[in-house]
Amino acid sequence: MNQYCKSLNKYQRFRSREVYIGDIPLGYKHPIRTQSMTTTNTMDIKSTVEQSIRIANEGSDYVRITAPSIKEARALKEIRHELRKKGYKTPLIADIHFTPKAALEAAQIVEKVRINPGNYADNKKFKVFEFTDDEYQNELQRIYDRFSPLVKICKENGTAMRIGTNHGSLSDRIMNRYGDTPLGMVESALEFLRICEDHNYYNIVLSMKSSNPIIMVQAYRLLVNKMMKENMFYPLHLGVTEAGEGMEGRIKSSVGIGSLLEDGLGDTIRVSLTEDPEFEIPIAKKIVSRYDKRHNHAKININDSIIDPFNYSKRKTLQKLNIGRDNVPVVITDLSYFNKINHKLLELCGFSYLNKIDKWSISDFASDYIYIGKNKLDIELPLQLKVICEYEIWKNHNDKKNIYPKMNIQQYSKENHDVSIIFLEINSNEKNLIDKLNLVKNDRRIIVMLKTNNLHGMVEQRNFICKLIKNKIKNPIIICRDYDERDLEKFQIDASIDFGGLLIDGLGDGLFIRNSKVDSVKNINELSFEILQSTRTRITKTDFISCPSCGRTQFDLMTTTAMVREKTSHLKGLKIAIMGCIVNGPGEMADADYGYVGTGLEKISLYKGHDVIKRGIPSEDSVEELINLIKKYGDWVEP
Ligand code: SF4
Repeated sequence: MNQYCKSLNKYQRFRSREVYIGDIPLGYKHPIRTQSMTTTNTMDIKSTVEQSIRIANEGSDYVRITAPSIKEARALKEIRHELRKKGYKTPLIADIHFTPKAALEAAQIVEKVRINPGNYADNKKFKVFEFTDDEYQNELQRIYDRFSPLVKICKENGTAMRIGTNHGSLSDRIMNRYGDTPLGMVESALEFLRICEDHNYYNIVLSMKSSNPIIMVQAYRLLVNKMMKENMFYPLHLGVTEAGEGMEGRIKSSVGIGSLLEDGLGDTIRVSLTEDPEFEIPIAKKIVSRYDKRHNHAKININDSIIDPFNYSKRKTLQKLNIGRDNVPVVITDLSYFNKINHKLLELCGFSYLNKIDKWSISDFASDYIYIGKNKLDIELPLQLKVICEYEIWKNHNDKKNIYPKMNIQQYSKENHDVSIIFLEINSNEKNLIDKLNLVKNDRRIIVMLKTNNLHGMVEQRNFICKLIKNKIKNPIIICRDYDERDLEKFQIDASIDFGGLLIDGLGDGLFIRNSKVDSVKNINELSFEILQSTRTRITKTDFISCPSCGRTQFDLMTTTAMVREKTSHLKGLKIAIMGCIVNGPGEMADADYGYVGTGLEKISLYKGHDVIKRGIPSEDSVEELINLIKKYGDWVEP
């Protein structure tokens, strides 16, 4: 049984139990909560209080603060006291790694503690051991003994707990048995959960974070699947770790968090950005607001999920032009609302005409197709760029090279078309669906342009594609969405979730994003490529994994991230992690190719994969040293 949510065609929240964090409960009866985490040194009480207030003023339901050792855990008392004195009642969460004693202290002060089962009772890293069954049992007993005191203290004090697994920081025991996999992440949390239940302690929230949205989504789904089988209904905290900054961070977080919220999973979210933490809350609120009225969505008649929700595999399709089969998803740019297609517009699509040498320069973010609607073309285009136009225009076009017609079902049914390729527009709520599908099935010229008007559109489109799979229809699909959103950030969030939710399940051979209120071709194009990058379906640039920083960071992470980006952003396909501390950084940078990790005050260590190559480099030399390391391993190309 692959069930991982309440319904695959009707928006319904997973019926998670109610957990009180101070006076603000979460769970399925309550709104989806938001939270952020301070980045100040916890011992700097004044700054931590001020930053907590800024987070609370943005409307955050909870504030998380790191407590790396007992002294920071004790400082939480004063921080909490100061906040309460100023009238801020926002519940506080202590973030604990490696230091059970700090957890025991914090659990008596704040409303919730977060522990990472990968490092609560373990501090070995990247050493693979063979565990016999007996040794494994002994390990579990050791954890039971180590973890039980915290459970008892939480129970006595009414303190909630998050058991928060992170991909890349699993214990050797789990790695040995399950590998660095979604299943390993789930089992890691369940080991600790069983200890809690053994003590009749249930005030628990669970999380399965990763910097890779696909892994993250699979892990949460698997967790819910296991919980359903065992009649457990713990609430979920959602987040994509080390999502980065700016548009990239917003899109990566939206893809991961939103894909789960679409299926009703998630009771609290954190958008982790390498920015000041108060900036995370408005984004989290925009994500959550999508679901305020979601239950009013139009009925979805198809319920045909056929996808393995726990393993990625791309839908098998025919190849038409450069679309489908093993091709990366294509990007189609809408130029239909411009009167004339000219060089300036093409430049925004990534094609710059170099007059002097009569050649085109093509960027990594160049559109694959432009849609020109009913416009005529009177300009020569680069060879790589293909054009889609309305059928009636196409019919009368003299030179049909690289130009393809788009038609709707009525046009398609009426005429006997002498065409080799048809972009056929279908709405995922079509009436007489089976008849329409049969049309598609028997016509190998068709590339489906799949639209939806449903408020629960991603799910409607997903079910439609599943129906195609079930009926063995292999025509490629372009996912199409029309937006009417002026707020650029909200638009980016919505599109990331609507498109990302399908791409992470291997569905979709192309993207066609339109927004009648945002006429910036460049913005929409960048958004398309960014969504593809964060779903790892089409890599067009360096993948940066940067942690949001916290009280453990001892260098200016934001400035450093900007510096590393500036020097390495041309290294297409390389994954570079910039992590604030040696305690969690190496574990949480998961599958990065190179790691830049803080090791002390203004000191950096450099990693190749999981191996530390250079330690204790002064931070002023560190970016240069990173470049040298990339050169040494042959991954450098000159910009
Ligand atoms: S990796 Fe970054 S966010 Fe995580 S504990 Fe270290 S400094 Fe804090």
